[in-house]
Amino acid sequence: MHRSIGGRFGSGVTMIIVMQEKASREDIDDVKKRVLDFGYTPKLIEGSVRTIVAALGDARDKARLQSLQSLHHVEDVMPILKPYKLCSREVKSDNTIIEVGPAKIGSDNIVVMAGPCSVEGREQLLSTGKACRASGAQILRGGAFKPRTSPYSFQGMAEEGLKLLRDVSDETGMPIVTEVMNPRELELICKYTDIVQIGARNVQNFSLLKDVGKIDKPILLKRGMATTIDEWLMSAEYILSEGNSNVILCERGIRTFENATRNTLDLSAIPVVKEKTHLPIVIDPSHGTGYWQFVESMSKAAVAAGADGLMIEVHWKPEEAYSDGPQSLKPGRFDRLMKELAPIAEAVGKTIGC
Ligand code: PEP
Ligand code: MN
Repeated sequence: MHRSIGGRFGSGVTMIIVMQEKASREDIDDVKKRVLDFGYTPKLIEGSVRTIVAALGDARDKARLQSLQSLHHVEDVMPILKPYKLCSREVKSDNTIIEVGPAKIGSDNIVVMAGPCSVEGREQLLSTGKACRASGAQILRGGAFKPRTSPYSFQGMAEEGLKLLRDVSDETGMPIVTEVMNPRELELICKYTDIVQIGARNVQNFSLLKDVGKIDKPILLKRGMATTIDEWLMSAEYILSEGNSNVILCERGIRTFENATRNTLDLSAIPVVKEKTHLPIVIDPSHGTGYWQFVESMSKAAVAAGADGLMIEVHWKPEEAYSDGPQSLKPGRFDRLMKELAPIAEAVGKTIGC
């Protein structure tokens, strides 16, 4: 169980203590202990070259932390001025890579998550999942608890849907990503899933964010339809501040005055997010546009712009889908798209799918 930071200290302060490259485990433990003794919460951030100890707590005593600069195994002590701290690029310059089964999200391999909007039945999920896997998707998506605008729309298969996801995962070898809508269902969902999705509508459900911050599974955090990038990163910070540093950001379109598409897919979020944070970013062109016709071009643009992954809705019979049929690709089109994405990934020094 991790100690909560945000709640106790209000906006608080974060100082980062940059360890010398050759600092030993004992040196790091020594700094952690000193930080604790000063009344701050230490949080380790392991980079590929050096370790950083972030000290979170009350601003009033920060001069005491500054004095740690005199320790021989400490390289630098500095304040983080950004409102988000632990997810900031200032704290960790190298990209965070999140491993889920064989997939490495944030690496030079662009990870593709594909599958239906909702789990609707065994045959639907198995056939769609198998096809997605054969085309190179590494992770299976599918909702069992669905956030629907209307209470009369299909709400998802709940636990039965989670069981089907697990079965198809076992059969295809694809890890699963599925959405949690409220803290009540988190424990149940965690029994089945590999990645927990926080949907656009819950991006600022702070109690849910705190809860998923305490689990040891990666979180796919969708951007809200009306959240700025900074607000979205503050939501990621909620999760990191509770101890879970495996957060995958997912841009899925925002509300603008434009109504030719369901949402306006903000592809400029990719370079902006890359500058601001070390966390990986995945693009969802399905919810981002709302129409299958636009999924292909936006997927290509996302790969060219530096996305770490794609989340694409695929349905074996989109015309019969219980949700989001109009934006779902048929397996054949998805297969063709994967083939067309390969040279674009190569042009930006990456590979895609596997
Ligand atoms: C989904 O992934 O099916 C979904 C509901 O997405 P969003 O939260 O982005 O609308
Ligand atoms: Mn959907």
